[in-house]
Amino acid sequence: MPGGTLGRMAPRRCPCGTGLTYDECCGPLHAGTRAAATAEQLMRSRYSAFVVGDPAYLLATWHSRTRPPSLELDPDVRWLGLDVIAADGGGLLAAEGTVEFSATRIADGQRGAQHEVSRFLREDGAWRYLDAL
Ligand SMILES: [Zn+2]
Repeated sequence: MPGGTLGRMAPRRCPCGTGLTYDECCGPLHAGTRAAATAEQLMRSRYSAFVVGDPAYLLATWHSRTRPPSLELDPDVRWLGLDVIAADGGGLLAAEGTVEFSATRIADGQRGAQHEVSRFLREDGAWRYLDAL
């Protein structure tokens, strides 16, 4: 069962940086009990999935057009924080949107940041990650 380690690894505060607890924020999205209302919410929950180690969630929220057949998370990368820089579209009534963010990480002992503009589309009514611009 994917996500079985989630409870053990769940931090008190949600890793995506909203200031909410994990159970109030990305936790229910990972558990499948709530859907992302906006593209930004989905983006945040996907970042949190990297932090808690939930590749199944990342695959499930990937658009079918671009979804890889499988995904392995690099155990040597540790994610430290997320800054959402801008969101364009992606609202409650939108069908597409982009979210620009910067995620801080340590990989091979080096601290760095991943800066990306992600594109999101609705698929069957649900927000999905399409690709990075
Ligand atoms: Zn969150």
